[in-house]
Amino acid sequence: MTLGDGTRCVHAGLPPAEPGAPVGPQPVLASQFHLGGARTYGRAENPTWDALETAIGDLDGGTCVVFASGMAATTSLLRTVLRAGDTVVLPSDGYYLTRTYVRDNLAALGLTVRELPTGMVWTEDMVEGARLVIVETPSNPRLDVCDIAAVADLAHAAGALMAVDNTTATPLGQRPLSLGADVVFASDTKALSGHSDVVLGHISTADPDLAARLRSERTGSGGVPGPFEVWLAHRGLGTLDLRLARQAENAAAVYEALREHPRIRGIRWPGSTHDPAHEIASRQMRRFGGVVTFEMESAEAADAFVSAATLVSAATSFGGLHSTADRRARWGDPVPDGLLRFSCGCEDPTDLVADLLTALDP
Ligand SMILES: *Cc1c(COP(=O)(O)O)cnc(C)c1O
Repeated sequence: MTLGDGTRCVHAGLPPAEPGAPVGPQPVLASQFHLGGARTYGRAENPTWDALETAIGDLDGGTCVVFASGMAATTSLLRTVLRAGDTVVLPSDGYYLTRTYVRDNLAALGLTVRELPTGMVWTEDMVEGARLVIVETPSNPRLDVCDIAAVADLAHAAGALMAVDNTTATPLGQRPLSLGADVVFASDTKALSGHSDVVLGHISTADPDLAARLRSERTGSGGVPGPFEVWLAHRGLGTLDLRLARQAENAAAVYEALREHPRIRGIRWPGSTHDPAHEIASRQMRRFGGVVTFEMESAEAADAFVSAATLVSAATSFGGLHSTADRRARWGDPVPDGLLRFSCGCEDPTDLVADLLTALDP
């Protein structure tokens, strides 16, 4: 029997049913364990990690390793896979810190770095000679999409490992491992945890040897996730299906309300049939999330719009319960000054749309 997303989220990584035992997962904050069993020391093993890794691994379709943040996951992957002199392919329009970290912190490896836009036509020469190809789809912040299966084929033909940053999609939106990727990683700070109170990340892979090397990287480098944060993420994951459904409903309503508004340009949401990425997105995505991106005439106009909206906070993350907006040029993303990444929360669609229309036309 194939279970639905809601059932899988609610039951993912639950402890075995035993009379008198807690129904839900519980945080275990131990730094040491009685020797002779499966666990020894809190930097290397923790049952609360195991529960969330079982849950996310089940949804991703691979073996999951949790990390202290999305960037801890990303950089652990880079440090585990890349060797001196390698070529790495990165998204030029994806999360900026991935590019900055490779340039500034891995400079000693003498890597050849190819930064390519997500939405381009991918050909063999672009991945030629690469050890690792990373794509981010839909990309943050512009929500461009690439064909995961096609890029995975090109990467594999070139002998490269293919990894997908799945943060904007979540494991419910897209299963890159089943589309041919070797690795999927994400910032679970965003929709997966969903309550804006946790910083966390993970990597899943179908390769047990790579999973073991990533675990060893985590234990040895030592920046491990706190069990309490991991437990909060697990608690949040239980409602991911419900939250995504409301966020996507809000995104569809906001997209329709703003699409032809005279003050809005270039609105993107891959879930809409009007979006240029919709065709390819709907082939590989199972459902869409709550992030919408659009442009206003200037930085001042975008900032004034966000402060006029009473249900929207200016904040630099996305995927949470509360609607937020972030003007990405503030952080140096290569985008126009007036571009807003708008994260629809779980408010009622009619309230959110009414608030936005009033804020646009005060
Ligand atoms: C936020 C984000 C990251 C970084 O994650 P942190 O949890 O903030 O370290 C990486 N990739 C994408 C696409 C993100 O949105």
